[in-house]
Order: sequence, then C-alpha cells, then structure tokens
Amino acid sequence: MTEEKKGERKAIQAAKEMGRIMAAYFYELNDAAQTRSKKTAWCTSVGPAEILRSLGFLVYFPENHGAMLGATRMATDMIAEANAIGYSPDICSYLTADIGAFRKGVTPLSRAYKGIESVPKPDVLVYNTNQCRDVQDWFAWYSRELQVPLVGIETHRGVGDVSQTHVESIAKQMEAIIAPLETVAGQTFDLEELKRVLTLSRQCSELWKQVLETAAHAPSPLTFYDGTIHMGPAVVLRGTQQAVDYYTLLLAELKDRTANDVAAVEDERHRLYWEGMPIWGRLSAHAKMFAALRTCVVASTYCSSWIFSAFDPDDPFTSMARAYTELFIVRSDESKERYLKQMIDFFHIDGVIYHDAKTCPYNTNCRYGMPQRIEALTGIPSLTLHGDLNDLRLISDEQTKTNVEAFVEQLEEKKA
Ligand code: SF4
Repeated sequence: MTEEKKGERKAIQAAKEMGRIMAAYFYELNDAAQTRSKKTAWCTSVGPAEILRSLGFLVYFPENHGAMLGATRMATDMIAEANAIGYSPDICSYLTADIGAFRKGVTPLSRAYKGIESVPKPDVLVYNTNQCRDVQDWFAWYSRELQVPLVGIETHRGVGDVSQTHVESIAKQMEAIIAPLETVAGQTFDLEELKRVLTLSRQCSELWKQVLETAAHAPSPLTFYDGTIHMGPAVVLRGTQQAVDYYTLLLAELKDRTANDVAAVEDERHRLYWEGMPIWGRLSAHAKMFAALRTCVVASTYCSSWIFSAFDPDDPFTSMARAYTELFIVRSDESKERYLKQMIDFFHIDGVIYHDAKTCPYNTNCRYGMPQRIEALTGIPSLTLHGDLNDLRLISDEQTKTNVEAFVEQLEEKKA
C-alpha cells in the first residue's frame, strides 16, 4: 500500500440524507419554540421518548447537545462556567459543558444550522436514571433555572437478570408520569397513538441493530466512528417514520458493501471493540489513527445502547420498562461480561479497547478488574485508554497514540 493510501476510509453515501433529516429535526424544534405551535419535552437519551411523542411533544435530547459540544471541541471552554456555580469538574462533562454553554448563551446548533440561535426552550423535562444520577441533577438545574416542571423515572441499577419485579415497578412509574405530562401537553393520552409510536421505535431499533451487525462481516463495511455519527436518528428520531426510512437506506448501502467486500478501512488487518464513551473531540483523529494502522474498530457497547429489542406495541408499558432496564449500563458486572463475550465472538474481535472516561464512571467498565476477567475468559487482549468524552484537558494525544501503536503491534505479533 502506498503512503498516501494508508489511513484511507470509505465515506458512507447515506450521510447526506442523514444530514438532511437531522437539519429538519432541529429546525422543527426551533420553529416550534419560536412560534409556540407545539410543545417541547427535553428527554434523557434512553428516557421514555415514545410516551412523549405519543402526547404530541417534540422531543429534544440534551445529551445529543452535549455530544455536539464535544465533537465541535467547544465543550472544554464551557465546563468552567458550570464549575463556577458549583458543578464539579469531576462530574459528567456533558452536564457541565451543556449547562456552561447555556449560561454563556452559545450552542453548536448556531454553527451547524443558520438561523438557530439557541437550544429550544422546554415545556417539560423528563429523565430516566437508568443510565446515571447525573441526568437527574442536570435536568433539575434547568427546572429551577427555567421554572419548568420536572418528571422522572428512577431505575434500579446493577441489575443481574431483569425480573418481573423490576419491570413492574418501572412500568408503574411510566404510567404515573402520564397525568402530569397530559397537563403540560394539554391533550389526553391515547394508548393507540403510543402503540403506533412504539411500532416505529421498534422498527428503528431493529434496523439499527442490523446496521451495526453488518460489521460482523470481514472486512467490516463500517467503523465505530461511522456508528457514532449515524446513530443520531436512533437517538433523537426513534418513534418516527424518518428514522425508519433512514436506516432502511443506510442498511441497503452497507449490505451492498458486504456483498462486494467493500471495506470501511482499506486493507483491514485487525478488528477492535470499543468499550466506553466515545472521545467526541477526537472522533476524526482517532478514525484516521486506527485506519493508518489497518485497524478497524468494528463495534462498541455505546452504539448498541439504542437497540431496544424488547419493545412490543401490544404490551407497551411492560415492554418499554423491560427494554429500558435491559440496557448494558443498568446491569451487573456479571451480565455485562456475558454480553461482552458475545460481542467479541459475534464480531470476530482481535482486541478490546476500554475507555476510562474520567467524568463518566457509569460508562467506564475497566476500574474493577473487568478487562482482566474478560481477557481470561476469551483470550482476547485489551488496552485501557485514559481520557474523557468531552473534557479535552483529560486526554493525552501522545500517550494515546503510543499506547494504541504498541497494542496493534502486539496484535500483529500474535497473528504472525
Ligand atoms: S451516562 Fe455518563 S456521559 Fe451519560 S449523562 Fe450519565 S454521566 Fe453523563
């Protein structure tokens, strides 16, 4: 391979359509906030978005905004603003970047979408603590600041097998948020509408799962870095026809690639699994770094977090409760290890990278011996990278590069 070709990655054609639907999503939120034509709910990324859509809310996700602050490398400058009002630099850097940006009156949406000057004002804030407690604190700040009602679901954590008791208690909490949401929405809850939305969410989830599973093919038609971009509609538009149409299009392109052995990373030699949060401000740099080493990061826990296989429109509350509790982040270490073993086998993984994200202990699974246990179980080596999702002061690019190169060399020796 020539030097110029090293690190070449194959662009996904569907990205243009994704850009279009994401733009339409943000402009609709912006228009509604300005004209007050529709109510807007802010929701956590694995919160009860389907209930909100069924009540006619447009749904905005502050974590998506946090990731945009990270990807545009605006986040680091915003964090100090939240630290100044008592939010520690050690807590979630989505939270600190997002609150900091709000206080400074800036948003990456203005850069990406002409005419949008701020995030859309919420009519209600809705959280689920299934991922962490930080989301509740985050939304509580906005509730006080904007004088907007806050409702939420408190999920069990460290769950082994998801039992009927877990499911029933979450389902009851989901039913209990309907009444306060009806008051804000100014409309009555309609079970048939929830079933319709949940059907679309289920389709979106199934298509997204199939998209990610195409990476089991060698060479892989997509990378983790593609996944972090293309998961946008699964996060913010699940429950809509647009998301279903988009993943139908993307899946066709990726199936075409696998049929023709088109590789996302030219001359793929090693296949890695990414465990933990993305490093948003380094997506492009890391995609290039791995590609130059003929290494494809083919799969991740993170991108798979928006697969909700339990959704069943015929049993909406119970199935939503189960789906939003079966998530990796909610589970015990034993369940997580079983899952990781399956992923390593399914995607034919040569090595695992654990991201120790300083400000997100919830999505960091390498602090209590898990890499060593997984290595003993599978014989697959691992590397831990120290960094953060958003705070670039916590990342050493030199150290990352040195460690990744040494790890890939180790994989190469294993194959030789
Ligand atoms: S899971 Fe981690 S990154 Fe996500 S909101 Fe919670 S603390 Fe922040």
